[in-house]
Amino acid sequence: RTRVSARIAGINPSATLAVDAKAKALKAEGRPVIGFGAGQPDFPTPDYVVEAAAAAVRDRANHGYTAAAGLPELREAIAAKTLRDSGYAVEASQTLVTNGGKQAVYSAFATLVDPGDEVLLLAPYWTTYPESITLAGGVPVQVTADESTGYLVTVEQLEAARTERTKVLLFNSPSNPTGSVYSRAQVEEIGRWAYEHGIWVITDEIYEHLVYDGVKAESLPVVVPEMADRTLVLNGVAKTYSMTGWRVGWIVGPQDVIKAASSYQSHLCGNVANVSQRAALAAVAGPLDIVAEMRASFDVRRKKIVSLLSAIPGVDCPTPEGAFYAYPSVKALLGKEIRGEKPADTVALADLILREAEVAVVPGEAFGTPGYFRFSYALAEADLVEGVNRVAALLSEAK
Ligand code: PLP
Repeated sequence: RTRVSARIAGINPSATLAVDAKAKALKAEGRPVIGFGAGQPDFPTPDYVVEAAAAAVRDRANHGYTAAAGLPELREAIAAKTLRDSGYAVEASQTLVTNGGKQAVYSAFATLVDPGDEVLLLAPYWTTYPESITLAGGVPVQVTADESTGYLVTVEQLEAARTERTKVLLFNSPSNPTGSVYSRAQVEEIGRWAYEHGIWVITDEIYEHLVYDGVKAESLPVVVPEMADRTLVLNGVAKTYSMTGWRVGWIVGPQDVIKAASSYQSHLCGNVANVSQRAALAAVAGPLDIVAEMRASFDVRRKKIVSLLSAIPGVDCPTPEGAFYAYPSVKALLGKEIRGEKPADTVALADLILREAEVAVVPGEAFGTPGYFRFSYALAEADLVEGVNRVAALLSEAK
């Protein structure tokens, strides 16, 4: 017998956090590392949210256990926000407040998936998805799209991957890591296909407000209302309000599933920290001005990074329409000689870039697709330009 369970021993450590840790260690040694690894906005949490949290700390009502599914006021506000932002009319009883979007992902799979159930996982995918599917006993079935389609998977591909055991399709638009956004017509086609085959959809809408060029993030159960009874929508305050550290997310779904997930949560963690829930209430019930400001800044950086990356020979960078990531292919550079080394994969090339250019990027292996890098552009524009220029200088030595 092993010391830790096979289930836990089988988890791959988060590659994005690993890159971040390496970059931080180099920084601590005094080296001028520029990090494109972190998936978090670089803005402070809005003042009115911080004030609501400060008041909540002083209020005794927040000092004890509360309902597992979340503070009633917050659940009401999440229902109202869902209608405001996606046009999806739901009751407060159809919401469950979780410890961040991450726990929403984990709980959604734990609630829907039995051992052996297959989950269609669109790749490039966010690192946490396959691990949470596997922990729930499910089998991730990867369906991959590349830069030639802007990383968008087709219904034909989904149909080819479907089996008797397919229970869930995991959907994420705007996407981490590619920034791609499915159009309304594509969401409709995928939603209808799922409906026709009795497949559930878990749709992660955490980047819903970060879309550019007039593109709109469409909510699957709104586009295909018949799917409402078999869809879980995941969301949270992290990316929209620059609240990654506050740890509040949620699931919206059919009442019976939310009830089951709430029972699970009552044993898993009790309730989400009340102070964080009060802060999330101020965010969710408040205006979206802050998001508009962040989006405008991200948009400037998005254009900058895409133009700088596209100018590097051997780098192919589709223009992302959402989130705050660029996902260029660097396949043409693999196996070439740079500073006496011949990196054969993107893990090795990212390592070389970190050592020689002091720039941290996340290799595509972390997202199920070797041959790519993820650049988060949630950093100051001057650093962004300096960082990409350093990468460009190093990669231009490839021969
Ligand atoms: N979903 C996606 C696609 C993400 O990129 C993230 C964070 O990186 C999350 C969910 C979870 O965010 P959090 O747990 O910080 O709310």
